Amino acid sequence: TWGRVCNELLKTVGKSNYTTWIAPLRMIDMSEGIAAFEAPTKFMRDWVSRNFGEAILRELRNDGHVVERIEFRVPELRPIPANEVSRPAVAAPAPAAPKARAEEDLPGAPLDARFTFDNFVVGKPNELAHAAARRVAEGGPVTFNPLFLYGGVGLGKTHLMHAIAHELQIRRPEARVRYLSAEQFMYRFVQALRERQIMDFKEMFRSVDVLMVDDVQFIAGKDSTQEEFFHTFNALVDQGKQIIISADRAPGEIKDLEERIKSRLQCGLVVDLHPTDYELRLGILQTKTEAYRAQYPGLKMADGVLEFLAHRITTNVRVLEGALTRLFAFASLVGKEITLDLAQECLTDILRASDRKVTIEEIQRKVAEHYNVRLSDMIGPKRVRTIARPRQVAMYLSKQLTTRSLPEIGRRFGGRDHTTIMHGIRKIEELMGSDRQIAEDIDLLRRLLES
Ligand code: ADP
Ligand code: MG
Repeated sequence: TWGRVCNELLKTVGKSNYTTWIAPLRMIDMSEGIAAFEAPTKFMRDWVSRNFGEAILRELRNDGHVVERIEFRVPELRPIPANEVSRPAVAAPAPAAPKARAEEDLPGAPLDARFTFDNFVVGKPNELAHAAARRVAEGGPVTFNPLFLYGGVGLGKTHLMHAIAHELQIRRPEARVRYLSAEQFMYRFVQALRERQIMDFKEMFRSVDVLMVDDVQFIAGKDSTQEEFFHTFNALVDQGKQIIISADRAPGEIKDLEERIKSRLQCGLVVDLHPTDYELRLGILQTKTEAYRAQYPGLKMADGVLEFLAHRITTNVRVLEGALTRLFAFASLVGKEITLDLAQECLTDILRASDRKVTIEEIQRKVAEHYNVRLSDMIGPKRVRTIARPRQVAMYLSKQLTTRSLPEIGRRFGGRDHTTIMHGIRKIEELMGSDRQIAEDIDLLRRLLES
């Protein structure tokens, strides 16, 4: 039985490993040669499977079970319905106050309490968007209408919109502020159509003071939703109500969006959130780390870890945050200081995914440029030193900066044999020790290619 196996595992992996990793597992099935376990979190699942999978398998077999492999799963998390989050536990019994009724009928999505201006780190890439959002949130006479925020995933569009809503709730508590995604807008609309309540729908949307629609690119190509959105938009603007829109790209670049909508979206202020730069990423990491320090008192972090993350994870802020969250959880679980090694170990997957992919073609092009030789000579047969050496540098960099195998690299160098590639790489490695110029060239090229 699992109990007996556990006893054995306790001996082989040690008490602390056992309590941290094995004890929380629940065996959920054992049939057809597969033993299935449930781990409390994805992170634990991955960790256990990587580090203790073998041991568990071995002990199961030792205990006489015929097991071919083990599977680790995590329980499906039931999403908490929005109305369970913010509703107080002691709800007012019916009949509810008329105002509350109306509020409830108003379509909107719950706001994330963490998405405030206070928690938003401002840097060069987002300072304009931030300033515009602040201005709109400060209210007063309508400033920019609509305010159109755009930018890639995870750059803070939703965060800023929620921040505006939070701020408005404080400054103008009487204002009816509604935030929802374009997708929700569409579902409400379709539902209204189906239930023949389109007049109510129109009424609802036209009675708000501030309307925010997130990810508006979603309604592109959805004709009747676009049509309705256009009318809602116009009605609100005509009444001098504020509209705030976000999208993943500029209005003019959203395909399958009607021209008249595009031009209306452009008539207010259009600002973009640029991809994060190193300083902004570091700032965000520092801010989040402050919060984590309170949550995990006593946890130490070595110098350079945040800098390393800011340097390596450049994709989006969500991924950056996820990395930090995992790092703190992991360090507190194993009771270790957060060091570079620990970060590398615990974030392998994230780091790998965010590595920029350099292609062999790019390498050949950059190297040819650098040594002022023709690109065709990179793959051609010429053997003179002035050409052969740069070619070897390109081979070396291809091995270093890509995941290609030697035969694959050979193929991209005009069908050379993998031993030729190997020879070229060795030659460069050798020279790097003795020839300063080569070492500097490689360093420079590597930086150019990796930036
Ligand atoms: P988007 O809507 O543009 O895809 P989000 O607003 O959902 O991005 O941001 C993704 C995550 O990154 C959120 O958790 C958000 O709080 C965080 N984030 C993005 N930009 C910043 C910033 N400048 N400061 C602090 N947190 C940020
Ligand atoms: Mg968003």
